[in-house]
Amino acid sequence: MTDQMRQGGPRRVGQVKEVTSLSNPIVKEIKALTSKKDREQTGTFMAEGLKLVIDALELGWIIRTLVYAKAAKGKPLVEQVATKTVAKGGLVLEVSEKVLSSITRRDNPQMVVGIFEQRWASLDALQPEKGKTYVALDRVRDPGNLGTIIRTADAAGAAGVLLLGDCTDPFSLETVRATMGSVFAIPLVKTDPEEFLAWRKRAGVEVVATHLEGSVDYRTVDYTKKPIALLMGNEQSGLPNALAKAADRLVRIPQQGRADSLNLAVATAVMLFEARRHLLALEGNQ
Ligand code: SAM
Repeated sequence: MTDQMRQGGPRRVGQVKEVTSLSNPIVKEIKALTSKKDREQTGTFMAEGLKLVIDALELGWIIRTLVYAKAAKGKPLVEQVATKTVAKGGLVLEVSEKVLSSITRRDNPQMVVGIFEQRWASLDALQPEKGKTYVALDRVRDPGNLGTIIRTADAAGAAGVLLLGDCTDPFSLETVRATMGSVFAIPLVKTDPEEFLAWRKRAGVEVVATHLEGSVDYRTVDYTKKPIALLMGNEQSGLPNALAKAADRLVRIPQQGRADSLNLAVATAVMLFEARRHLLALEGNQ
């Protein structure tokens, strides 16, 4: 990989290329984005689907490359997105279905794929205030869980997803797929337990940690007075003691039946909708 690519990839300004060969170097670069190392080195990631690409552009995400299937040529929305991409200095590739399948590793790929610049928020950019809810995930490992949590956090109106320690990459293809576009809608922060705890102190954020040994029913907590961070544990080992001890509240979701615990994404959803219950209403019901 060249230095230029390492710094975010060469910007082939405003070109439209037709590609049918799987060994085309640009196609190879895009395929390499399935590896975390390549995503980190280039600072980019792949998102599939026309609607997702349109939404991302509307939200101001920077597109490096737009790839669309020959069969999509001439469709007004695809043409609009292609024009926008070129205007912003990106590259547009018109490719065969075979190339698109190999890029997305799918037999029936979406007609449109966008390569975007990754975007991370910092803790200090979050500006917590009453009514804001954050999800803090300790070492989340499963890409599907993380994608589902990002989607659910967006749907519940959360203000950010904080990734503590060694987490799975939110910009992997599997996670981005599971977010259904919400990866573009919610701030993502990469941090660690120490930084997180220091931030919550200076920002006045109440940490409600979830734990199978929590003695407080999660429905009895007052979530209305302060900004809240819902702290969730790792899929296998749960929350480490140090994080559990540092929390303001240690809550549990009561269970029946034989299951030891809930799936992490399910537990996060239960917590989010309870913590934001006072802020959520059907239209016309507010
Ligand atoms: N064996 C792990 C343990 O002992 O904690 C199970 C972890 S569970 C699959 C993943 C995370 O989901 C937990 O760390 C917690 O944050 C949350 N969770 C799952 N079920 C829960 C429950 N009933 N009450 C509170 N949190 C729960």
